Amino acid sequence: MRLAPGAVIGILGGGQLGRMTALAAARLGYRCHVFAPEADAPAAQVTKLVTIAPYDTAALARFAHAVDVITIEFENLPLEPLTGAARITPMRPAPEVLAICQDRVREKAFLERIGVPTAPNWPVRDARELARALDEHGGRAVLKTARFGYDGKGQLPLGPGVDVAGAWAGLGAEIGVLEAWVDFAAEISVITARAADGEVISYPPVQNRHEEHILARTIAPAPIAPELATEAIALAERIAGALEVVGLLAVEMFVTQEGRLLVNELAPRPHNSGHWTIDACAVSQFEQLVRAICGLPLGAPAPFAGAVMDNLLGAAVDAWPALLSEPGARVHLYGKREIRPGRKLGHVTRLTLPQSPKS
Ligand code: AMP
Repeated sequence: MRLAPGAVIGILGGGQLGRMTALAAARLGYRCHVFAPEADAPAAQVTKLVTIAPYDTAALARFAHAVDVITIEFENLPLEPLTGAARITPMRPAPEVLAICQDRVREKAFLERIGVPTAPNWPVRDARELARALDEHGGRAVLKTARFGYDGKGQLPLGPGVDVAGAWAGLGAEIGVLEAWVDFAAEISVITARAADGEVISYPPVQNRHEEHILARTIAPAPIAPELATEAIALAERIAGALEVVGLLAVEMFVTQEGRLLVNELAPRPHNSGHWTIDACAVSQFEQLVRAICGLPLGAPAPFAGAVMDNLLGAAVDAWPALLSEPGARVHLYGKREIRPGRKLGHVTRLTLPQSPKS
């Protein structure tokens, strides 16, 4: 299936990832139709075609009839209505991919099944199972909700002597995952694009620094040994192949103190750690998504410069006038009106020394 420019790309979700996808699509002559439950969402501000509705069967079916391909900008979508929509119009990534990536228990089981290393983890359904998992693990850990967690929401660090019943109640979820705490040397991520015919390309691994579980800074490329970078890309491409994802797959990994890679999380969509590609690559992650889902050739992922991307979280966005005055700073603002602590309101990318395509 090749969708020529002029076709309508349906985007589920109205956040900044959808906004930047719509902007990239517009550059290639596509139109986007944004589906979001809330009015005036960042993505809806940049497209003419907008549906404001809850993610229910009827609304999604109507949407599917109105677009030529459906993609997503966040994965926490209800599966049943989505599956119905995907029967009407191709959905890339497919609902089956979302089923895995929106649930930490399934995601970890999938990774285990295909032999990808992760931090030791235990699915838990009640305080008793949590106590047993803590006993078995015996060290520092983090309890995460299986579903609907993002940016550190739904995560509880646990140490020895913790009040288990209190921790379980505090998580407020029906299913959770207890994960061993990883004393990592670095966090990195790889963004892979995969076409319907199985072709894959990957951006170089980047290093990510989180503050209070929220991405604060991305350094591209990651200052790691070339062998480790190759290994990280191979891992991401293997996962993308096994998932048969069409579109993008972001793979977050820990680099352990011993230099091993452990996969932490998958996201089958554009990722915050790929925003630098807008300013440092001929083809950004957002354009790459458009290319993959429309059946166009994937673009070369080699950056023409290194980059440091800083998120503008909460009140940090107030620095926009000063940032605009800074030579070389590339400022991106998402059009969100309400400033809340930790909320992603924009980002700024600064290019660093040019990289040779092979580095
Ligand atoms: P996540 O939502 O799983 O991506 O977690 C957000 C961030 O919390 C990660 O990027 C890490 O900085 C931190 N984190 C999550 N899980 C662990 C872990 N098992 N060990 C150490 N840090 C973690």
